[in-house]
Amino acid sequence: MTADIIDGKIFSARVREKAGKQVAMLQADHGLTPGLAVVLVGDDPTSRVYVRNKGIATTEAGMKSEEIRLETTATEAEVMEVVHRLNADPTIHGILVQLPLPEQVDEMAVLDAIDPLKDVDGFHVINTGRQAVGLPAMVPCTPLGCLIVLKETLGDLSGLEAVVVGRSNIVGKPMASLLLAQNCTVTIAHSRTRDLAGVCRRADILVAAVGRPEMIRGDWIKPGATVIDVGINRIPKEDGKTRLVGDVCFPEAMDVAGAITPVPGGVGLMTVACLLANTITAACRQAGIAEPEV
Ligand code: NDP
Repeated sequence: MTADIIDGKIFSARVREKAGKQVAMLQADHGLTPGLAVVLVGDDPTSRVYVRNKGIATTEAGMKSEEIRLETTATEAEVMEVVHRLNADPTIHGILVQLPLPEQVDEMAVLDAIDPLKDVDGFHVINTGRQAVGLPAMVPCTPLGCLIVLKETLGDLSGLEAVVVGRSNIVGKPMASLLLAQNCTVTIAHSRTRDLAGVCRRADILVAAVGRPEMIRGDWIKPGATVIDVGINRIPKEDGKTRLVGDVCFPEAMDVAGAITPVPGGVGLMTVACLLANTITAACRQAGIAEPEV
């Protein structure tokens, strides 16, 4: 068997195009331009690239984009001041504080200070709780992107065995919660899971969000399973340069899986696309307008 490759470029382009059309409609029908503010503290090169890409995508979709940069030495009070200003700004509907934050700034305290209605990353405990009990919530972008890909690839997910490897608040737990809401039978695996390979082998849907290069081998995968590889790991090449790989050993998985997302070029691209979708959802909720479907 050779797995189908799920092309993240195609899926993310579709979500971004839809976002652009929705923004145009909101502007024409309601005079509403969704606005996204991204706060970057420090000069971590990876974070800088992420923030730049988010700004470009936001502007391309016709939204207002604001980028706030603070020095690495910024105090928690300074970061909070920015968050409070953005909370009060009616032209900003989504606030994203790029993580990680420098150690003198309490990450949880900052995330907690964001107005839950503007929390487009979906990390605020109010959104986490609302999602858990099935109320409308802002859903974290990466798992939301994975769910869109899964639904478009498989259709109805009801009754499927889903295994999510990784239990972070950013990916693993919200992913599991979204799959449960789709009526999957969900297992969350983590570093203490016994017989991880055997657990993975049960999965019709296997989501890997671990951060360990190529940990999931071909013989851990049920023949025909759909594999979503969230991992982004940089490993050295023989020529001294580096390359990106996922948490799944892609060449081995290709021989067993039914469909798989590559790294790079898979679900990573969906994160920014879903950020746009979340900003539109947030803008509609704040304006009391019926929100479009993602
Ligand atoms: P975390 O480090 O927060 O969580 C990793 C999870 O993997 C933990 O729950 C941990 O278990 C589990 N784990 C670690 N080692 C093992 C092991 N040997 N066996 C089983 N489980 C293990 O990572 P994130 O969730 O933030 O990110 C995961 C990956 O996804 C990373 O590669 C990251 O770069 C990528 N990522 C990609 C995004 C995108 O595509 N846009 C966005 C966010 C993340 P335990 O809890 O027991 O320690």
